[in-house]
Amino acid sequence: MQFFYKDQKLCVGTLKSVKTDADSEIPTSGLSPSSVQLLDFAQTHKSPCYLYDMEQIQRRLEFFKSSLSFMKSENIHFAVKSNHNEKILNLIARQGLGADTVSIGEIRRAIQSGFHQKNIIFSGVGKSFDEISEAVDLGIKQLNIESPSELLRIVKICAQKKKPIDIGIRLNPRVAAETHKSISTGGADHKFGVDLTDLERVKTTLRQNPEFVKLKSLSMHIGSNILKLSELTEAIAILENHLREFKNDGFHLTRLDLGGGLGIDYFDYNLAQDEKLITEYANLLNQVHHRNPAIELMLEPGRILVARGGILLTQVQYLKRNGSTDFAVVDTGMNHLIRPALYEAHHQIWPLLKRQKAKKSYTVVGPICESTDVLATNVELDICEDDYLAILDCGAYGMSMASHYNLHDFPIEYFYQDGQISDLA
Ligand code: PLP
Repeated sequence: MQFFYKDQKLCVGTLKSVKTDADSEIPTSGLSPSSVQLLDFAQTHKSPCYLYDMEQIQRRLEFFKSSLSFMKSENIHFAVKSNHNEKILNLIARQGLGADTVSIGEIRRAIQSGFHQKNIIFSGVGKSFDEISEAVDLGIKQLNIESPSELLRIVKICAQKKKPIDIGIRLNPRVAAETHKSISTGGADHKFGVDLTDLERVKTTLRQNPEFVKLKSLSMHIGSNILKLSELTEAIAILENHLREFKNDGFHLTRLDLGGGLGIDYFDYNLAQDEKLITEYANLLNQVHHRNPAIELMLEPGRILVARGGILLTQVQYLKRNGSTDFAVVDTGMNHLIRPALYEAHHQIWPLLKRQKAKKSYTVVGPICESTDVLATNVELDICEDDYLAILDCGAYGMSMASHYNLHDFPIEYFYQDGQISDLA
């Protein structure tokens, strides 16, 4: 999203140059005629709602692809778990990306939304018999195994069907990404990936069943919202060492799947900074590409592509003070955006109307009957009851993690494109 305040009202639109500070006044001469005032929109639509900027998502996709121009676009697999909205998936499929999925439901959604099954990979630690069976029938691109037992199950299914499948081995590299502990996945004691001590068993099964399971790739995904590349660099080196060992052991691998994980700074709405990180990441991957020219690199990014492209609009219901805390009770919460409650995630919250009165420090909470239903603390706001707020950077792991807990309605999802907001993309 590209935001700016004009006449104290928050607008979304395309600017020739973007300043990233919420309070900065952006020269209107740089304003495209296609901006929309969010307050008008909020006042005429049911609250809460998600709003996606399709132009922003498209720009991010294009930047990511062009930074990684040494890779085939179809080898950049969008992590469907981060946003499974059909219109967003369709935009991504039209950009030529592949899809990374973690359930048969996500595979079906990806296909419905325009991805070809030959561009879909299937990750996940607990794939069921039925899920694998359907994935084999569909003939997807690659199934990333996470345990020796899973491989045995795949062999059984493929033997029954007399149909082979390409597989990747997701290694547990014993390198945990430096991020929140709940979204770090590459550590020795995390549940993800095949333990390095299990690799010999996996190799034996592969050697015994060459007609059913074709090993194509080694894979990894060490965590999410990674802002520093040091652990990724370390884990990639481990993967490359194993690639050499597998080759020495006679396996003909043609792919290396380096997962997803690139993050954004949720404290700073700074698109230029995101692009700087993408460029550093691309340089790192380019080096891997040059060291392994015969290997196709694959990725599974989610957040970096869509997080900035979505906001959650909400209306203040009540302002109240309990003890020494000022609460703003809004009409959305952990049911629609669970990240703050689940892993202490930060989201900036901006008012749609700047009132220019004294600000107060609020704890912004939702309607859910749980004390953990806190969207943000210490938010400096000058608001009244019934005012509207925008919760930023909700395009990834927002709506896709929404639940019906307490049976509130799901928010409607809207799309900003060509100077208009509608429920059609
Ligand atoms: N691949 C796998 C296996 C994942 O578990 C995840 C997310 O946790 C991703 C890719 C996408 O990660 P991100 O959205 O951080 O890029």
